[in-house]
Amino acid sequence: MALLLHSDINALHKASKAKLIHMKIQRERRESEKNYEYDFSGLQYPGETDGSGLPLIPSPSLFSSLHSTTADSPWLVEHGIPTVAHCATHLELLEVFFALRNKIINSEQLDNTFGVKVVAKIVYRRKYDSTTKGYVSRRTTLRDDSIKFRRREKWSYYLSIAVERFKFWIEKADKAMFEEWRSSSKKPALPCLPPLDVLMVWHAFLLNPIDFDSYCGDHSLYAIRQIQFPWVQIHNSIDTDEWTYEVPLGANDWTTKVANMEPDLFVYLQQTGAIPKSISRTLRKYGDSNVPIGSMWDYLRGFGLSRREEIFLDLLLNIQMKDKTSERLIGNVLRQASFVDKMHDHLWICSPAAEGTLYRAIARYHKFLKLFQLYPGNILVPTLDIDLVWHTHQCSAAFYENSMRERTGRYIDHDDKIGKTALDSGIDETQKLFRLRFGQEYSLCLCWDCEMTLTMLEKLEKNSALFQTDSIGSIVEHG
Ligand SMILES: [Zn+2]
Repeated sequence: MALLLHSDINALHKASKAKLIHMKIQRERRESEKNYEYDFSGLQYPGETDGSGLPLIPSPSLFSSLHSTTADSPWLVEHGIPTVAHCATHLELLEVFFALRNKIINSEQLDNTFGVKVVAKIVYRRKYDSTTKGYVSRRTTLRDDSIKFRRREKWSYYLSIAVERFKFWIEKADKAMFEEWRSSSKKPALPCLPPLDVLMVWHAFLLNPIDFDSYCGDHSLYAIRQIQFPWVQIHNSIDTDEWTYEVPLGANDWTTKVANMEPDLFVYLQQTGAIPKSISRTLRKYGDSNVPIGSMWDYLRGFGLSRREEIFLDLLLNIQMKDKTSERLIGNVLRQASFVDKMHDHLWICSPAAEGTLYRAIARYHKFLKLFQLYPGNILVPTLDIDLVWHTHQCSAAFYENSMRERTGRYIDHDDKIGKTALDSGIDETQKLFRLRFGQEYSLCLCWDCEMTLTMLEKLEKNSALFQTDSIGSIVEHG
């Protein structure tokens, strides 16, 4: 540690704090449209800068291996283990999911679409009137305390529609891929990126590998498990200023023309809510507590609907069936939301140490897999950084299964439904085994400052014989 100058560490703390504050301000500015200025001078940030010298965040170099065929890919082909670029793209995607949830909850247009409105409750209260010296009844309007809660409920309406769209999409996508696969013998590939809501449901489903596997078996889906998750296309579709996802123009043709699906559910819900039609009347039933949802049936089947609108109405009808699979799929996304929140809190994707953090996370994941192989009877619980790599790995279903069998001798499920007590004892156990086997600390702090310090130490280590390889992990272990 003595090799690290005190001033360097101070500068790093300052830089990471400044950056986090800046990002918070940016978010607030977007929300309130106020004009803030921030002084970037003195911010130490590695990597590329834009024309005016401001750092590009996230750094484009994080993703360079997505496009190269040499750097990381031999590793990927051999073992199917994710690369830094895959994990970085995954972090981008999770940030997009985070922003989407906020957008849905805060959208006033969707309040209108789903019929969420302030319910003015009027009561009459007896009050003493000093002029007439007697009691009178006064009309009082009560504040609607439930509106905040009902506005949040939009997220679950959105999810229930997303899940039905996913079930429809996966059949269509798999069929298209399977036919292509059979006729050309090329490896199966997605016909085009799915809409964001569908991608989110699919992503959360993939994090339950054995469940996804049996769903594919039950529904005769042969191709979709075989593909690599489309990290390159996803990275290319994300705007990291606004954390939005937009498939390039023309790339949605398959979704709209072949699958007959709306490419952007949010936009569609906004637009549909504004036009009085049977679809909008149906959607409005969700948030209107005065109308039982069962009465949706009465409003279905309007005249002159397009094929796409008919399909959409059918999906809304399916929601009423309260299908067990749909509920499970919604549950997957809801459980995944806490991981999305944790990744947003750590915001590694914007950290000046991002590359080092992800590189070390992958190295630690390799060790985590080694523990699976060595201790098959134990419940092993990942740390946040290891979990990110694990999730990234699971997104390419068949690759995940194969490399797990190869490395650990079995197909390991990812159970995110374990209770807290079992989880805590699992963490203790994993920590013990990790220390025992690798002589390194398992639970790390993972904040920007500690991660940047580790990155600097690693640089020093490379240039100096004073440190021994693999000794760094144990230096930073505080909370
Ligand atoms: Zn720390």
